[in-house]
Amino acid sequence: MKQYKNEAGRYIVDIHGIVQGVGFRPFVYHSARELKLCGYVSNIGGSVFIDVEGEVISMKHFINKIMKTPPPLAQIEKINIRKAKMKGYDCFDIVKSSEDKEELRFIPKDTAICNSCKKDILENSGRWFHYEFTNCTDCGPRYSIIKELPYDRCSTSMRSFEMCPACKEEYENPDSRRFHAQPVCCPICGPQLKLLDCKGKEIVAQSAIREAVRLLKEGSILAVKGVGGFHLMCDAENQKAVAKLRSRKQRPHQPLAVMAADAAAIENQCVLNDRERQLITSSQSPIVLLKKKATCSLPNILAWDSDKLGMLLPYTPMHMLIFADGLKYLVATSANLSGMPMEYENQKAIDHLSEVTDYFLLHDREINIPIDDSVTKVFIEKEVISRVGRGYAPLSINIGAQHQLAALGAEQKSGVCLSKNGYTHVSQYLGDMKSPEAFENYKKVLDHLIHLLRIKPQAYVHDLHPGYLSTQYALEQQGMKLALQHHFAHMASCMAEHKLTKPAIGVIYDGTGFGEDGKIWGGEILVGNLKGVTRAGHLKYCAIQGGDKAVEEPWRSAVSYLYALGDCSLEGLAGLDNGVTETVKAALKAGLHCFESSSMGRLFDCVSALLGLCSKTTYDAQAAIILEHVADRQIQSGYEYEIQEDQDGLLIGYEEIIKAILTDIRKGKGVTEISCKFHNTIADATVEAVVKVGKLYGVREAVLSGGCFENLLLLEKSIKKLEGHGFTVYYNEKLPCNDGGISFGQLAAADRIMRG
Ligand SMILES: [Zn+2]
Ligand SMILES: [Zn+2]
Ligand SMILES: [Zn+2]
Repeated sequence: MKQYKNEAGRYIVDIHGIVQGVGFRPFVYHSARELKLCGYVSNIGGSVFIDVEGEVISMKHFINKIMKTPPPLAQIEKINIRKAKMKGYDCFDIVKSSEDKEELRFIPKDTAICNSCKKDILENSGRWFHYEFTNCTDCGPRYSIIKELPYDRCSTSMRSFEMCPACKEEYENPDSRRFHAQPVCCPICGPQLKLLDCKGKEIVAQSAIREAVRLLKEGSILAVKGVGGFHLMCDAENQKAVAKLRSRKQRPHQPLAVMAADAAAIENQCVLNDRERQLITSSQSPIVLLKKKATCSLPNILAWDSDKLGMLLPYTPMHMLIFADGLKYLVATSANLSGMPMEYENQKAIDHLSEVTDYFLLHDREINIPIDDSVTKVFIEKEVISRVGRGYAPLSINIGAQHQLAALGAEQKSGVCLSKNGYTHVSQYLGDMKSPEAFENYKKVLDHLIHLLRIKPQAYVHDLHPGYLSTQYALEQQGMKLALQHHFAHMASCMAEHKLTKPAIGVIYDGTGFGEDGKIWGGEILVGNLKGVTRAGHLKYCAIQGGDKAVEEPWRSAVSYLYALGDCSLEGLAGLDNGVTETVKAALKAGLHCFESSSMGRLFDCVSALLGLCSKTTYDAQAAIILEHVADRQIQSGYEYEIQEDQDGLLIGYEEIIKAILTDIRKGKGVTEISCKFHNTIADATVEAVVKVGKLYGVREAVLSGGCFENLLLLEKSIKKLEGHGFTVYYNEKLPCNDGGISFGQLAAADRIMRG
């Protein structure tokens, strides 16, 4: 037994959080050895387990180091330390992982290439020079390749690649940056890139990547397999190539994300503040929505409807190498057919995309779970996420949940949320569930997360909407079910994120959600807490003709509102066509396919269509996005509006607002002015309603959520005006305010309700 000069002891330490796949064991190993401690470190289930003994003073330093300077990608959530009887270890080792039963589990996230690996592939003349799959303990794929926890090579897609002796040596050498880096590989033993033509026939070239770059420079479209799936890529500076991509993908207008060679290339085109720079260069490497500079030279075709561009940096060695030869900007949009999820399997991608892409650049490392890029933005110095994806998902947040639950989200921008041991785990964005393929993918991710996190749901939480596939799927499960109203779930998502327990007023402005009265809600003023809310007010109902069609055709909302006003004159309304409006008017008169709606989204659609900005959409929320974009932000005035009160609460009237807009249009006022006045009016009416509800219920906290608050002009104006009236205002930051945040809200509310 080792002898110690000073007082010695033994600690058993459990560390929970994101501690696997982030170089934690090597870090512990080095720290222990430096301090001459003995024992071992191991991954157990989802945690790191340390059995350590030595001089007490050194052990204190050791624990301090773990807590204060863990590896960069680690996120410690909980640490348990207990004393134990000395065992007499004589060295410190890393031992094989083992299983646990009921422990806290977290799933490591896919991480962008680190600076040391960048040097390895671009500068250092070692084994990794120009190798597209280089990684280390600080970077590389994780969640997308994990099949099982604990996270070891044999539980990932890398198990089919046997390490060569040189890689094995690095993997086992505690002094290597790749010590226990599970996906470690090199050109000898690791995945390989292949270039194929659009039919899937291999193109023989000395270097697949150099040939791919040549084709991109020529104006070709390539389907490129990355970490979480395939992107469609083309030269973003080549207008013709982008137009070809748009036409083949049948995406005429939706903004396309742009991958830029480096941060300087982004800064040449967009305004970048410190927070935005930090986000764009982070290890999560999301798409960040940035304001275009006046001097931006990238073609408008990338984002017709907005003055913003979604930009990201190359996040794998392969992407870096694509940019190594002079390309500056590439379109990087998820590769899928219209309505289908992103492709991530080689053969299926070839089968589905042969008409869309000219070539495929793919590799033989299997993607176990597909994951889209994350989309985020900076609003008042803070990050506000729009889409939880690669680098962020699964998103683990401690809300003190007391039950194991599965919340199944909504329908568009679907996703799931699971809870155990206090934590919620939010899945990546799973898209619109309408296609069978998307629904299959949704079920696969749900099962996978339940399996990895070892969750036995005590209840399935779902939306009230009987037609949602997520609702139907929940009802097929064994055990307890809990239905929660859509806008309550939006409000709960924001309250739980901010750990708000006091009653608050929720302003929930949204596209579509099934209401408790069976009508379509979406302009809601709610009051309450996570246990439940009262509907204190709403945008006045209007019968909207067309059902789901109205969502895609804003002119239907415009005609429906005009009909409700009894003013169906189309004089001065460029966006409305007399022929079709007559049919809808007849349908409104007969009550055919009309739905009472309080949706704020439809009111924005109506105004956008009345102004001739957008009468038919080709992507989600297009009409509102254009309306926000054109607004002249200098204008402070608004329109008259009316708030009535009846036994159901406050009714925010639309009549005065639309009449005033029609007058302005007919007077020939510009769309920029009218749009801003409309935004001001909605913010004013909102504040007046909130002030009234606040007085009635004695509440000073306001919560803003729902997809309409993706509109930053509306969000900013609402916050300022509410704060001006002394309210503390909360909005979604970590979770999307759109339906991507619904599953988290459902879970937080259900857990609170079940506590009683
Ligand atoms: Zn690295
Ligand atoms: Zn190797
Ligand atoms: Zn919603």
